[in-house]
Amino acid sequence: MKGTMCGLVKETSAPGKFVYRTDLPIPQINDDEVLIKIHCTAVCGTDLHIMEWDQWSQARVKTPLIPGHETAGDIVEVGKNVRDRKVGDRVSCETHIPCGTCWFCKNGLPHICKNVRLFGATENGAFAEYAKIPAKNTFLLDDDIAYETACLFEPMGAGVHGVESAEVAGKTVLVSGCGPIGLTAVSACKTFGAKLVIACDLVDERLQTAREMGADAAINSGKCQLQEEVLKLTNGVGVDAAIDITGAGTAIQSSLRCVRAAGKLVCVGLPSRNVELDLTNDLIYREVELTGVSGRKIWDTWSDFAKVMKGPYYKLEHVMGNRFALKDFDKALEQIENGVPGKMILYPGER
Ligand SMILES: [Zn+2]
Ligand SMILES: [Zn+2]
Repeated sequence: MKGTMCGLVKETSAPGKFVYRTDLPIPQINDDEVLIKIHCTAVCGTDLHIMEWDQWSQARVKTPLIPGHETAGDIVEVGKNVRDRKVGDRVSCETHIPCGTCWFCKNGLPHICKNVRLFGATENGAFAEYAKIPAKNTFLLDDDIAYETACLFEPMGAGVHGVESAEVAGKTVLVSGCGPIGLTAVSACKTFGAKLVIACDLVDERLQTAREMGADAAINSGKCQLQEEVLKLTNGVGVDAAIDITGAGTAIQSSLRCVRAAGKLVCVGLPSRNVELDLTNDLIYREVELTGVSGRKIWDTWSDFAKVMKGPYYKLEHVMGNRFALKDFDKALEQIENGVPGKMILYPGER
């Protein structure tokens, strides 16, 4: 497709805001790519890091860049090698663009490809009217999943991935941290048949929301001894699995102690510094399994998440924030900086 489009651009490799432009060329696709007319895109912490030009961005991002990656829209053009996508398909996008040739890609682990490219970070993304991406990176949306909901696959998917790793069916599970990703994990645990879901957080309002999204018990770990409460709820045994969303060292340490012997701790949240664990007593003697998850399994996590979204526990209003025109990005930013909860959604064009 020829012509120009509007979009946000990170123009220079230095801290500074995105610039709204109306003269950007519409991306030209190659034979394996599709062109997507963007319906809406959610704002992610990563976008803010790119704006602030933190170390992560300095190491990866080449300017000028169109950021934005949590998106959904309609395919308007397909490359000539593309067989399983067509014009008019409603899609969302997997941010991790795997190389397809490394050991991980060849062994069913493309989500941790060692040469991964990142839509909206190493490649131009979706804060624009149009975006291009390999057809293989698009996820077809069922008719009953709204574009706005579809923007959540990418950011909240890690929570669902954590639940997959914990293999929760029939089990007792602790979910530590009840922000949007933790709440997604709570409802995923229930959707996939966990016997008992215990949510913990330091904020009572979040715990109330966790109950509404399926938690059988909700504990304010700032106001009581988490391990004691968990033991009470599990006949003195401890939970079969714990999922840490917080990335906080003390929370990870106490989750590990809440897991029963021969249970499993899955880490989803990213600690900002090293975490000290008593491996001898808390892990080795008790034969506890400790693992991490990164991103989303392609496409298992996506199809599992679609089931969660359609299930009885997922409450969109608790994870969704406000809506803005793309050109009003700064207004969305202001709300994020003021702590307004939920995902902010941007729409290209006038609104
Ligand atoms: Zn993101
Ligand atoms: Zn690879």
